[in-house]
Amino acid sequence: MKIAVIGTGYVGLVTGTCLAETGNEVICVDIDESKVRKMQNGEVPIYEPHLDVLFERNIKAGRLKFTTSLKDGLDHGEIVFLALPTPEDEDGSADLKYVLGVADDIGKIITDYKVIVDKSTVPVGTAEKVEAAISKNTDIEFDVVSNPEFLREGFAVDDFLKPERIVIGSSSERAIDLMEKLYKPYVRSGNPIIVMDEKSAELTKYAANSFLATKITFMNEIANFCEKVGADVDMVRRGMGTDSRIGKRFLFPGIGYGGSCFPKDVKALYKSAKDSDYDFAILDAVVNVNQSQKTALFPKIEDHFDGNLKGKKIALWGLAFKPETDDIREAPSLYMIDELLNFGAKVTAFDPEAMDNVKRLLGDKISFAENMYEATESADALLICTEWSIFRTPSFKKLKDNLKDPLIFDGRNLYDLDDVSKEGFTYYSIGRKDIK
Ligand code: NAD
Repeated sequence: MKIAVIGTGYVGLVTGTCLAETGNEVICVDIDESKVRKMQNGEVPIYEPHLDVLFERNIKAGRLKFTTSLKDGLDHGEIVFLALPTPEDEDGSADLKYVLGVADDIGKIITDYKVIVDKSTVPVGTAEKVEAAISKNTDIEFDVVSNPEFLREGFAVDDFLKPERIVIGSSSERAIDLMEKLYKPYVRSGNPIIVMDEKSAELTKYAANSFLATKITFMNEIANFCEKVGADVDMVRRGMGTDSRIGKRFLFPGIGYGGSCFPKDVKALYKSAKDSDYDFAILDAVVNVNQSQKTALFPKIEDHFDGNLKGKKIALWGLAFKPETDDIREAPSLYMIDELLNFGAKVTAFDPEAMDNVKRLLGDKISFAENMYEATESADALLICTEWSIFRTPSFKKLKDNLKDPLIFDGRNLYDLDDVSKEGFTYYSIGRKDIK
C-alpha cells in the first residue's frame, strides 16, 4: 500500500520504517530540514534499538523515502498518518496546533480520496476537529481515523511489529477496511484489531497512559510510606504483584515517571475532563505526587552532607527518562541536577545514549564522562537516576577505588541491600531501609 507519515519523531519514524518492512511504499514528511537531510543520507536521527537495521534495509529496497514536502507525501499516500507533536499547553491541555495546522494544509492540497490517521495522542473530539479543518478547504472525499499508538520508546520496533492490540476508531467502512488490510501482517499471532468509534479510541490512549502513571505513582507512595514505618517496598511489591489481578509489572518504585508521554498525557486527560465539567481528582494527585517524587532522593543527599553540598562532586549515572532511549524529556535526572546545582554541588554525568541531548540543553553547567567509572573518579557520591542494564552489576571494587567514600544514592533500587552492605557501601534507595 502507499503510505505517507507526517512527522518523523519517535512515533513517525518507527511507524514509517515498520510499515515499509512489510512491503508498503512509505514517504515520511518532516518540516525539520536538517533531520530530513540526515535521513536521506541514511542516518537515523534518534536512538531506538533495532531501528537502524530496518531503516537501512527499507531505504535500500526503495520502500522508505524522506521529504520536507507535504504535497509530495500527500500525493503519494492513500493512507496518511499524522505523527505530530501534541505538547503540553500552558493550561495543561494538549496543544493541537501542529495537528490542526497540517490538517488545514491537507485541505488545501488534497486531490483524491485519503484516509487521514491521527496517530498522535489527541484529546477526545480531535478527529472531528481534524475533519473540520480539512473540509473547510476542500470538497474532495476523505475519512479521518483515530489510531492511537501504544509503542514504548526503547522497545518501539518490537511493539510496532508485534502489537498487543491495534485500536482503530472510525465510522467509515471504507477506512476501516483499508486500516485492517494495512495492519493484518502485524497481528498474525492473533492479537486483536479493536474497532470502535473515534472518541473511544482517542480516550483509550489517555486511559491507558494515565492508568500506568497512576500505578507507578501509587507504588511510589507505598514506598514513601514504607520508609516512614520501616517496611521494605521490595517485599511489599513481591507480595502484591503475585496477585494476578494486580500483576508484577509497573510496580517498581523510583524517582518518578518522566518522558514525553505520561507527564503530558495525565495532565491533558485531567484538563479535558475539567472542560467537560468532570473533576478527575485522582489524576491531580498523580501529577502532584510524581512532581515531588522526582526529587525524593534529594533530602537524603542533603541530610547526609549536613546541608552542605557546596563544591561536592556528584557522579550521576543515567540521564535518559528511562533505559534504552536517548529521550530526556521530563527526565527525573534533570530535576535532580537542578537541585544539586542550586545547592552548589558539581555534577559529572554518564549515560549510554542521552549525553548529547543533555549537552545541548545544559551546555557546560555539568560535565560528562566517557564511561560510567570515569564519572565516579574522586566523586563524593554516586547518584543513579536511570536503570540502564550496565549499571545493574558494576564492579563495586572499582567504585570504591574511585569514590572518595563508598556512598550511593539509588533512585531506581538497582542493588540488593545485603550485597551493598557486604561491599561496605553507605546506600540510600527508595522505600527501603538506609544502609549506613
Ligand atoms: P517527536 O517530537 O519525537 O516528533 C515529532 C516530529 O514532527 C518532529 O520530527 C517534528 O519536526 C515533526 N513536525 C512538527 N511539525 C511538523 C509539520 N508541520 N510537518 C511535518 N513534521 C512536523 O514526537 P513523538 O514522540 O514521535 O510523538 C508524536 C505523537 O505521538 C505525540 O502526540 C505523542 O504523544 C504520541 N506518542 C508518542 C510516543 C512516544 O513514545 N514518543 C508513544 C505513543 C504516542
